[in-house]
Amino acid sequence: MNLILFGPPGAGKGTQAKLLAAKLGIPHISTGDMFRDHKARGTEIGLRVKAIMDAGGLVTDDITNAMVDERLARPDVAQGCILDGYPRTVGQAQFLDGVLTRLGRTVGKVISYEVSEAALVDRIGGRRSCPACGAVYHVTQSPPKKAGACDKDGTALVLREDDKPENVRTRMQEYAAKTAPLKAFYQARGQVAEVDGLGAPDAILAATLKLLGR
Ligand code: ADP
Repeated sequence: MNLILFGPPGAGKGTQAKLLAAKLGIPHISTGDMFRDHKARGTEIGLRVKAIMDAGGLVTDDITNAMVDERLARPDVAQGCILDGYPRTVGQAQFLDGVLTRLGRTVGKVISYEVSEAALVDRIGGRRSCPACGAVYHVTQSPPKKAGACDKDGTALVLREDDKPENVRTRMQEYAAKTAPLKAFYQARGQVAEVDGLGAPDAILAATLKLLGR
């Protein structure tokens, strides 16, 4: 089963992807996490994407597609995967179709998480991330046990560069211009299922699993 999690920045795709991956036993593939890992390791890709990512812009399709192409060819994805943050443009969606066809696979459902803009702004503004392990918290909704420190490794939590207000604005604009139109692309193929993205992560997971018949 190849699932695509769809929705604006802050919709909770990353949280749901982690829960779904554990439940379904298939890998979680987040292009945002992959790019952040490249940045942290200072790879050639990391150096190329740093400025655009920090500003909240989209990385070019050629860099993104090449990275996903390589990832989907690995054996752990043979039984399916959960794509989080990819595809984000119609060009990426067409590229993904090509890769999956070549591998003898298809896109299953596209789960679209529906969240109001006010909730998105609150979620992103309150989000704090661990720069060491990538764990994500929210100052009021899912705070760490000790304020400002990661539960897993004690590292001081940070507001991601692209979570700063001016950069969030750019991400929202990029979403509206380039990513939102993708919904119609998948709707035309009857693949989109909408889930209310407001509420507790466990309840949203349950709604998602129900849609998947699990
Ligand atoms: P969010 O969904 O909260 O915006 P992500 O972690 O998915 O955050 O992505 C962070 C950043 O990584 C994006 O703003 C963009 O710069 C880059 N990125 C991630 N996935 C893609 C993609 N599919 N195409 C282009 N850029 C991407």
